[in-house]
This record gives sequence, C-alpha cells and structure tokens, in this order.
Amino acid sequence: MINAKQPWLIYLLISLALAAPESFAAAEEKLDEHVAHEHGRIIVNLILEGQSLVVELEAPAVHVLGFEHAPRSVTQKSKVAAINLWLESGKGLLNVPRDANCQLQSVNYTAPNFDRTTDHVDYKARVNYRCRNPLVLAWVELALLQRLIGVEITTVNLITSTLQKQLTLKERASRVPLR
Ligand SMILES: [Zn+2]
Repeated sequence: MINAKQPWLIYLLISLALAAPESFAAAEEKLDEHVAHEHGRIIVNLILEGQSLVVELEAPAVHVLGFEHAPRSVTQKSKVAAINLWLESGKGLLNVPRDANCQLQSVNYTAPNFDRTTDHVDYKARVNYRCRNPLVLAWVELALLQRLIGVEITTVNLITSTLQKQLTLKERASRVPLR
C-alpha cells in the first residue's frame, strides 16, 4: 500500500515509469492521493485529455476563508456560505482562450466539515470542462487566485497527452502554459 503521507508526485512519476501504456489513467488516479497541507501554498492539478479539461484545487482553508476554524461570527458564516456557493458553481476557477470554446460539464465539491476536526482543514474542488477546440488551448489562467487570500506559491501539476510537469507560480502569477 502507498503511504498516504508521502508526496503524491513521486508515486505519480513512479507509476508513469512503471506503467507507461496506462499512464493517463494512472496519473489521474494518483492526483487523488493525499497531499501535505502547507500554509502559503495551494495545489492546482490541470489535466487535459482530448476535449476534456479538468482542474482540481486543493487549498488550506486559511487561504480560502482567511481563517481555518469553524465559523463563529456572522461575517465568518457568510464567508463560508459564499465560498460554498462559488465552488459548487464551478465558475470563475479558470480563464481559457475564448476560441477553445470550453464549457463547464460537472463539479465535484464537498464543503469541508469544520466540526469534525480541530486540525487543519483543506478545501478541495474538481471541475470538468469540455473544450470543443482544444488545439488552441495554449494556456489557462488561474482566475481562482483572485478569490484566495495570502497564497505565496501555487504548485501546478500539469498533465496533457504530451507532457507531465510541475510548475511553481509565485504570488499573483496565474498564467499556465499548456505546451
Ligand atoms: Zn492549516
């Protein structure tokens, strides 16, 4: 069994090396592996396969809400509600070239349960798009960064049919080349 505390990327790379023919499916599965919670950093996984574009966000609650405990004040409760509405909608996470004609297909988002833990809390969301013209998808912009607070580093794990790589974006940098 995989030790869930190990960095997922190592397993991703090993699995890709060991299982090249099924690399894409394997890579996608490995993206679900646990990733260490680290303040200052969020993780964005981008997976482009054919017309399917998937974005996965994993962010410590402190960068989503500005705090990382069960909401207490009215202001904090309304912040949590607003974030839930945003992530349930799946909108405003990415900007893409208009000609790529990408449309939102589905959203996987479950609001974190603050009551169940006194430990750190992560926000996780996954959004699927269908892009009718993926050939012009030269880049995506992480519009989600505009809604987050105090992010110093964005670790982007990019997987397309032709490349797998990890990029590090600093502070407000948001454009990710897909080639
Ligand atoms: Zn934390």
